[in-house]
Amino acid sequence: MTGHEERIDMTESGSTERLLAEAELYGAHNYEPLPVVLERGEGCWVWDVEGRKYLDMLASYSALNQGHRHPRILAALEAQAARLTLTSRAFHNDQMGPFLRELCEATGFDVALPMNTGAEAVETAIKAARKWGYRKKGVPEGRAEIIACENNFHGRTTTIVGFSSEPSYRDGFGPFTPGFKLIPYGDEVALQEAIADHTVGFLVEPLQGEGGVVVPPDGWFGRCVEICRSRGVLVLNDEIQTGLGRTGRLFCGDWDGERGDILIVGKALGGGVYPVSAILAPDDIMDVFAPGDHGSTFGGNPLGAAVAREALRVILDEDLPARADELGNWFMERLRAIDSPHVEEVRGRGLMIGVVIREGSGTARPFCESLMERGILAKETHEQVVRFAPPLVVTREELEWALPAIEEVLRGDGVELFESL
Ligand SMILES: *Cc1c(COP(=O)(O)O)cnc(C)c1O
Repeated sequence: MTGHEERIDMTESGSTERLLAEAELYGAHNYEPLPVVLERGEGCWVWDVEGRKYLDMLASYSALNQGHRHPRILAALEAQAARLTLTSRAFHNDQMGPFLRELCEATGFDVALPMNTGAEAVETAIKAARKWGYRKKGVPEGRAEIIACENNFHGRTTTIVGFSSEPSYRDGFGPFTPGFKLIPYGDEVALQEAIADHTVGFLVEPLQGEGGVVVPPDGWFGRCVEICRSRGVLVLNDEIQTGLGRTGRLFCGDWDGERGDILIVGKALGGGVYPVSAILAPDDIMDVFAPGDHGSTFGGNPLGAAVAREALRVILDEDLPARADELGNWFMERLRAIDSPHVEEVRGRGLMIGVVIREGSGTARPFCESLMERGILAKETHEQVVRFAPPLVVTREELEWALPAIEEVLRGDGVELFESL
């Protein structure tokens, strides 16, 4: 007994109010979601418990690139669930090998290491780079250093938040893992200067997502790869959010013709139904791992592997990167044409788009609340940015439908502006 029951109206079972109250009372308060309770989804659309329909323009931070409940991915999930779901890595299963081969073929790398969440894959990349530094580069034990960027987002483990520049991600969670150094995002001179004898890796998002959809200068990622290559430093390319079609290419680094030395994937690799992540690397980096060095009970499990195989095939068969490119360019142009005193800038690539709200117009939150009232789900990121990143299966007609409401809201009609904190 928790004593919480008496604070909820138990007669209103299934109502928005009741469900919000349950989450509020029984859940830790580590999120601040919009007050909408979803119960069904299909393609780009979701329905709340009151039967209201919304266009999902967040797509679970790009984990839903293939849309909600893609029929092919669901069929793969169901077929595999009927056969075998988990073996652990103590035994082989008949899905993992084909999954890793198909992932390597799609990305152009030699070998893959499967994990579950994005943060775990980032941790795996950090471990690989450090061990590579000691075993291959000759860095003295315990001295390996990794460079990351200010305003980064790579996940929420204690090691990862330790090199975040966002105070709220770090506050109260120290002491942190040493061996990380930050440089300004988009600044290759700073990268040149930051590289030292013991630098083993540069961990980078080719376009910052959680940081507010920050697009670096043209060609910057490619120049960083070149610098790192000439200095014997591995590029750990975090494409967990930007990868698998989101920015109009299979990987965002493709805009510069580079995928880095270690490619980190997650989110949409699970097709919106199951957490699947991985790192990919050439043989001579991945071979630093020996049996017992690293692992995960669920990593490479047959259910996740079967889902990821189909999730990947859907992205390729439906040519989702090309859709994101074409629709993204068109949609961004339409957003830029909106004449509003509240909009400072519209930026992005493909269907990863951020609308920056002017400081004087308060935060992005009330704009997202107004969009919700008009049947459009978007979420603010970094206080000032409304992110538009729908599933990549969205159609031009669906985006056309959303534009008048978006225009109304961005102009400020019916939006209760409040000052930023
Ligand atoms: C979401 C994200 C992560 C973390 O993934 P989780 O699955 O939430 O652990 C890491 N890096 C980037 C760039 C992300 O967008």
